[in-house]
Amino acid sequence: MPIIRVEPSRLYRRIADQIRELILAGEFPAGSRLPPERDLAQQFGVSRPSLREALIALEISGFVTVMTGSGIYVRTDFAGAEPSSVPDGGPGPFELIRARHLVESEVAAVAAREATPADIEGLEDAVAQMREEDLRHESREDADRLFHIRLAGATQNSALSLVVQGLWDQGRGRMWEKMQLRMHNAGLRPRWIAEHTAVLDAVRAKDPKAARRAMQAHLGAVEEELNDAWNAAAKGDGLPSPKGEGAAPKDISPPEKTLKVKS
Ligand SMILES: [Zn+2]
Repeated sequence: MPIIRVEPSRLYRRIADQIRELILAGEFPAGSRLPPERDLAQQFGVSRPSLREALIALEISGFVTVMTGSGIYVRTDFAGAEPSSVPDGGPGPFELIRARHLVESEVAAVAAREATPADIEGLEDAVAQMREEDLRHESREDADRLFHIRLAGATQNSALSLVVQGLWDQGRGRMWEKMQLRMHNAGLRPRWIAEHTAVLDAVRAKDPKAARRAMQAHLGAVEEELNDAWNAAAKGDGLPSPKGEGAAPKDISPPEKTLKVKS
């Protein structure tokens, strides 16, 4: 008997695989709109961010399409989608930002206690680079990454540096890229620079509480942007179909037990 490789599975992939099976079984027919997000989340017994991550994964693998202002539809050409299970696109963007919220807020507090004058100069330099990127209208993440990595370095704890680097460099797979494309944050850059400046000011003042608060405010704002980007894309979700015909699936509520996430 061959040994089958055991793959650790992320929650969003388990949800996505079940939705994919329901699509393949015709429960959600080609061209139909998926049920409202809140209903699906309730039926699966999962949080809305996890369901959103599953829908992003299904979009990447070609099973559904997000029609701006109309909702999430099963693609009519999904037969050509990736046949096996939904591929692993790295950590989900919502779980990633929640992890960063926890870790980097404490990193900011420790950095406020431990930062050397050279660390503070490094952070000032990163903020200056953000301003230059903004003047050149570049929406790059380089200076942002630099700021967060240097802040982690300012804790003088190499393990914390590793954790933050991992969240930045290994955590940003296809899932994050997909959401990044939706985040039209050019107009938000001045606010975003101010958020980093607030962290820097707190570190300079050696005020751990203020640094923690400033980082929480920054990453809370990023999470809000992620939510806004998703809501803007899928805001028709759950409303009657635009033309009132065909598009909405007939009976889209299979018994609750079929929707529970397998673990
Ligand atoms: Zn940042």
